[in-house]
Amino acid sequence: MLRFLSVLFLSLLSLAGPSFAASKADVEAQFRRWLQDDLWPEARQAGVSAASFKAAFADVKLNWDLPDLAPPGFPRAKERKQSQAEFSSPGSYFSEKRLQGLAATGRSLASAHASTLKRIERSYGVPGPVVLAIWGRESGFGRAKIPHPIMDVLATKAFMSTRPELFRRELIAALHILQSGDVKEAEMRGSWAGAMGQPQFLPSSFLKYAVDFDGDGRRDIWNSVPDSLASIANYLLQKGWQNGRDWGFEVSIPGGVSCAQEGPDLARPIADWAGMGITRVSGKAFPSAERSASGMMLVPAGTHGPGFVVTPNFYAIKEYNNSDLYALFIGNLADRIASGGGAFRGEWGDVGKMLRSDVLGMQKALVASGYDVGKVDGLPGYKTRRSLGDWQAKNGLTPTCFPDPSLTAKLR
Ligand code: CA
Repeated sequence: MLRFLSVLFLSLLSLAGPSFAASKADVEAQFRRWLQDDLWPEARQAGVSAASFKAAFADVKLNWDLPDLAPPGFPRAKERKQSQAEFSSPGSYFSEKRLQGLAATGRSLASAHASTLKRIERSYGVPGPVVLAIWGRESGFGRAKIPHPIMDVLATKAFMSTRPELFRRELIAALHILQSGDVKEAEMRGSWAGAMGQPQFLPSSFLKYAVDFDGDGRRDIWNSVPDSLASIANYLLQKGWQNGRDWGFEVSIPGGVSCAQEGPDLARPIADWAGMGITRVSGKAFPSAERSASGMMLVPAGTHGPGFVVTPNFYAIKEYNNSDLYALFIGNLADRIASGGGAFRGEWGDVGKMLRSDVLGMQKALVASGYDVGKVDGLPGYKTRRSLGDWQAKNGLTPTCFPDPSLTAKLR
């Protein structure tokens, strides 16, 4: 093994060439100067002491293997062409095998941590299965190996990445965490994107939402299960979780009811949706406490996939990761953990092959006709979906509220 590695190392060296190695060393030297001359004054201004600044950076190294780096004096790496990315139906996001695995582990951990989860529900009003679902999705219930010393990631990205301002803010937040004594630098690990510990909090989120729930005086989202779970629940509560409400329901939407009624800005009492003939696929009625409260239509694949009536709690979950599919994944997993539920009943249809640039083209055409599509980014969020549905209805087509290849030609 050692022999193999040294051969590999030598061949890498010969590929890289001596000038490359020299300029890397130069960047390392620039990094040290940057820490002292550029970052330190800002950290001091923000209330970080000289001693804790020095200790925090004692072992920090630039990590040259991270994505999206822009080292000074190096040619810029080619940015991946997002527009050429393939665009397809959301169905592949919901791997049945993965969901079943997470649900089985989640159910066994629900009993192992039953008393902690009960206490969390009393304190934050967030049901245990929802907290478990996020824990499972983010870090495999704390079992996933968390790859990087977070200070290496944050310092590297603040110094030489394509988004230095964001990571500079997070680096200053991380210095505050270390100074608070919640965690030692060697234990403060996270992802290549700066998300830390079992709940995968950015440092700024840690400062706002992490809590000490096992009572040892430290907020430890790396080693303490009670701290990790309560921090997730506190995050959701602070983002608007409503005690006693569900996240949402899979529904069947009658043909005559337009799919173009999605979005948190088009909320109605759930009884109104029911009055249009929308029913739960489970065959059960909407719970009576939910009927008078507000709900929103959600059709992530338009008429090509399952439909939902969601509650404000769905949008609290979306604050964890701003994606309808992520929040649906968490909701579905939570239901499986709570009551052994299965996959969504509605099928994710195949909408045919498209590129993100095709969706971008449709968005530009809609905007040119005065429609609001939200961000023009080649991703069909709810504003794009419902504007597409409105455009279809206005042009004599049956609204599907989702891009498909037949629309690329019509909408340009
Ligand atoms: Ca603790």
